[in-house]
Amino acid sequence: KQPPLRKPSWLKIKLNTNENYTGLKKMMRENNLHTVCEEARCPNIHECWGTRRTATFMILGAVCTRACRFCAVKTGLPNELDLAEPERVADSVVMMNLKHAVVTAVARDDLKDGGSAVFAETVRAIRRKNPFTTIEVLPSDMGGVEENLRALMDAKPDILNHNIETVRRLTPRVRARAKYDRSLEFLRRAKEMQPEIPTKSSLMVGLGETHEEIIEVMDDLRANHVDIMTIGQYLQPTKKHLAVQKYYSPMEFGELRKIAMSKGFSHCEAGPLVRSSYHADEQVNAAAKE
Ligand code: SF4
Ligand code: SF4
Repeated sequence: KQPPLRKPSWLKIKLNTNENYTGLKKMMRENNLHTVCEEARCPNIHECWGTRRTATFMILGAVCTRACRFCAVKTGLPNELDLAEPERVADSVVMMNLKHAVVTAVARDDLKDGGSAVFAETVRAIRRKNPFTTIEVLPSDMGGVEENLRALMDAKPDILNHNIETVRRLTPRVRARAKYDRSLEFLRRAKEMQPEIPTKSSLMVGLGETHEEIIEVMDDLRANHVDIMTIGQYLQPTKKHLAVQKYYSPMEFGELRKIAMSKGFSHCEAGPLVRSSYHADEQVNAAAKE
């Protein structure tokens, strides 16, 4: 067995998790709300919550019916559906004074509608209470069922984001219950349903993919009319998760970004700490200028 790779210097950053957010975190606990920012201990929380006024909510419970091998979210029997969650999310968007709200959810393969009704209602509730906040949704493939996606698109989010996560060859190992082509189809259908809503997808690198395979992902996303792409470094959340195979340098990310832009994406963020929702506020603007 290979020894784990050493983290390069550009990833040794100080976490700012305890700064200034005690009140907000308390509010999240009291309202039984979850954010990816906190649960994934995202290194960008200071910039996002403090300066950019953006956050990523995770709805439909904190337990996922899937167990992707890169993801730190708990797997198991999901929580009971909470029909009051949309209003509570909308209220916290008010309290946090967010400019851009990202809403993601665990995969609810136990529900026929994949959780799409509550998801769509969350978009509507945020919109009602925060008409100037842009809303990005980041659903799982919701079982690949067209009506589930339609319910969400009918709520008119500002961006539909669905992550391809990894290259075609590695998908069965990295995202056991998902399918590469099903994700592409999901993105294509979203565009067909609401052509004016920008679509977006994220790729993690460092899982053992080749350069050619990364280019293939870019081409596949463009062939399915995806507008925005983000590329970030995979980091192993615990020892039980897949090991990092390679740390890409900031320069390599710069190269990947250049290639992505030459493929026709309207916006691409690429960097060691880039996450699906990183600098998402800028992407809405870039897409709106199209
Ligand atoms: Fe939250 Fe995303 Fe910002 Fe991380 S990058 S703090 S998950 S909004
Ligand atoms: Fe994590 Fe999403 Fe996979 Fe569930 S479906 S394990 S939340 S990446």
